Amino acid sequence: MDTDYAGENLLVVCVLKGSYIFTADLTRRLTIPHEIDFIAVSSYGDGTTSSGNVVVTQDLQRDIRDRHVLLVEDIVDTGATIRFLVATCEERGAASVRIISLLMKEGTDEENLPEVQYLGFRIPPVFVVGYGLDYAERFRHLPYVATLSGLPESGEI
Ligand code: 5GP
Repeated sequence: MDTDYAGENLLVVCVLKGSYIFTADLTRRLTIPHEIDFIAVSSYGDGTTSSGNVVVTQDLQRDIRDRHVLLVEDIVDTGATIRFLVATCEERGAASVRIISLLMKEGTDEENLPEVQYLGFRIPPVFVVGYGLDYAERFRHLPYVATLSGLPESGEI
């Protein structure tokens, strides 16, 4: 990634809330100059299935026109979120838009989605929490990714 963006004016966009820990770890490994901004979107509510209806709940502070944008996602499931975010960045005149995602669920219809240029892990199509990912705002603090069904209902970990 450092080579891909060498000499560019990189803007790292953390997609809140799920990718805040991943973004922190990622940016601490970048050796090229970059800025960070945050956008919050919602499509899940407090449930475990996507509504597919993505809305911005907290917008970027920066103007992204002519900027090279790297969207940092926690997980790609149906792809509705990245489709929406890429379209939004393109509408706003970004010079380029790339995606990095920590996780992608197997079975995601990748052919009909924007390309995820940098991907951490493919996982089975199960609901996961931890390392920033929540279930009804809980479990984000876990220093690992876990299936929800494997955790105690009390949430006391
Ligand atoms: P998509 O729009 O691709 O269906 O879903 C992407 C967003 O839904 C992610 O950024 C994340 O916020 C949420 N999401 C999708 N799958 C999971 C999951 O297994 N666990 C959690 N905690 N969130 C998920």
